Amino acid sequence: MDFIASNIAELSPSVTLAITSEANKLKAEGVDVCSFGAGEPDFDTPDFIKEAAIQALRDGKTKYTPSSGIMELREGIAEKLLLENDLEYKPKQVVVNCGAKHSCFLAIQACCEPGDEVIIPAPYWTSYPEMVKIAGAEPYVVQTKAENGWKLTPEEFEGAISGRTKMLILNSPNNPTGAVYSREELEALAEVALTEDILILSDEIYEKLVYNEKKHVSMASISDEIKKLTITVNGFSKVYSMTGWRIGYIAAPYDIANAIATIQSHTTSNPTSFAQYGALAALTGDQSFVKDMVEEYDMRRQYMMSRLQKINNVTVVEPEGAFYFLVGTEAIGLTSMNLTEKLLSRYQVAAVPGEAFGFEASLRLSYATGLDVIKTGLDRFEEFCLAH
Ligand code: PMP
Ligand code: GLU
Repeated sequence: MDFIASNIAELSPSVTLAITSEANKLKAEGVDVCSFGAGEPDFDTPDFIKEAAIQALRDGKTKYTPSSGIMELREGIAEKLLLENDLEYKPKQVVVNCGAKHSCFLAIQACCEPGDEVIIPAPYWTSYPEMVKIAGAEPYVVQTKAENGWKLTPEEFEGAISGRTKMLILNSPNNPTGAVYSREELEALAEVALTEDILILSDEIYEKLVYNEKKHVSMASISDEIKKLTITVNGFSKVYSMTGWRIGYIAAPYDIANAIATIQSHTTSNPTSFAQYGALAALTGDQSFVKDMVEEYDMRRQYMMSRLQKINNVTVVEPEGAFYFLVGTEAIGLTSMNLTEKLLSRYQVAAVPGEAFGFEASLRLSYATGLDVIKTGLDRFEEFCLAH
């Protein structure tokens, strides 16, 4: 007897998490692995954030909180969205979740059902299609092109729409390509979404990790009309190096925010109480940490770009955001799975296969790791490429 629900049976486990734990396991066994796998900042959470969480524990903030998060944090997030993203949301339109992964999940579960299609531009973050399948809806993957900077064009968006399309998932800055959409590009996509009445899940988790003077623009800030169709997702994992804390949030029109809050109230209840106080401190405290971290990422990014460009049989498009390189490996000829297995077992370099992002002939290298590891890892990667 097969007990697993059919939509769940077809899901794949997260490759990004699997590679990271495999690399960590090898390291613990004493293998000298250079890991480009994890999409996880290598910085520690700033002390003032830790102190706020410790203080919250000492103050007895150890009980259930309101399911959608403590009001101070929802207010703080609403204020941040207004000041930094030009987005006016009432605190009640903000729901704090257990990480931005959970925010994306809840948004999709709240809005999508069997019969619906969700447009996902590829290369995509590995979890989106699986979240759509959990909702019983169908992912509709649109392959974007390197020559367009891996960005979805309005024509591609329009061409992907059917009578069943419910939502577009947009992720800028993008994991895994590093693409950052400009205001004009967002305006053009918004116009299509408005004509066809399509929701947009705007995953902005990497908003502060932008380079080359690029500016992050929030989709919902494009116009009042598109704001009514947009669910903005963000969180604390990447910007404040708080991956383990599991705090993310959505901001959305009332009906969607309420639906998300209802699902959360029946599933996880609230995000961890003291982690919310840490997040509040992160929002309101000294932000200089963020600037320093972005400068460090940018230095690594430029170094990697200069090295990768010199390797003959791989291709790269300069990433302008997040902390990833998507390296085109078509000339090498192996499947991305074979390629990453070989890289790890013979060259002790951990990378994520393009297959996980819906783009086979590639692998993803994360630069959320120290420059020494990057240098050694790229020496090994270069050796691997030369041998193929
Ligand atoms: N969206 C994207 C594009 C991501 O890369 C991640 C990283 N895990 C998330 C959402 C979720 O982040 P978290 O759950 O750690 O807040
Ligand atoms: N988002 C990160 C990545 O893409 C962390 C792992 C995950 O949540 O999937 O590597």
